[in-house]
Amino acid sequence: MIHLKNVSKIYEKNGVVALDNVTIDIERGEFVFIVGTSGSGKSTLMKLLMHEEIPTVGEVFVDGRDVVRLSRKEVPYLRRGLGVIFQDYRLLEDKTVYENVAFAMQVIEAPSKIIQRSVNAVLDIVGLREKSKSFPDQLSGGEQQRVAIARAIVNDPKIVIADEPTGNLDPATTWDIMDIFLRINTAGTTIVMATHDKDIVNRLKKRVIAIESGKIIRDQVRGRYGK
Ligand code: ADP
Repeated sequence: MIHLKNVSKIYEKNGVVALDNVTIDIERGEFVFIVGTSGSGKSTLMKLLMHEEIPTVGEVFVDGRDVVRLSRKEVPYLRRGLGVIFQDYRLLEDKTVYENVAFAMQVIEAPSKIIQRSVNAVLDIVGLREKSKSFPDQLSGGEQQRVAIARAIVNDPKIVIADEPTGNLDPATTWDIMDIFLRINTAGTTIVMATHDKDIVNRLKKRVIAIESGKIIRDQVRGRYGK
């Protein structure tokens, strides 16, 4: 599902080696934590998967697509198959919960009947159907992140990429969010999640890929945060 081979990323403007000869294979349906201190290269890795950054050298394939050599026309098709979630939610403040999620389907020109059905279904999954008319600033952080998850999964992506999705949340809310990720994964979606949260990683015992200074220092099937 995701294949990186001998990937290095050097940011040209400052010469920083963000990733150094990284090779990773992730199969369909896996749940993978990417762990490492701030600046270790986690976000860069995520950005390569969505074609937000291009590797300096190496191969990147996502769901059979050569992400390095993607033409501009093909980028939207790649992104359609990816649900992306960030630490800071990135909701549209002037749109309601319903509209934020519906927007992700409007941009791909889905028929309005299907939009209505799909948006309501994902709002049920994240438990926010009753807040569909609220605006983001009327919601807690956890609720805003649940909207962001609903938006990420409404087009039924094969892969969800989450960059520190619980970084701004308290422990109880964090577990609500992790429950949703686990359910999405059980339904067959591949999940790649960068995190700093030792407790989550140690309790869930999923695959752990640890990065340090751009290098993979550990890749364990039922891993822990530290050694
Ligand atoms: P993490 O997500 O683990 O915090 P990043 O991938 O954001 O790590 O950063 C890895 C390294 O690359 C850091 O040294 C960071 O300063 C550098 N870096 C990240 N993004 C850029 C960029 N757009 N331009 C230049 N350097 C960058």
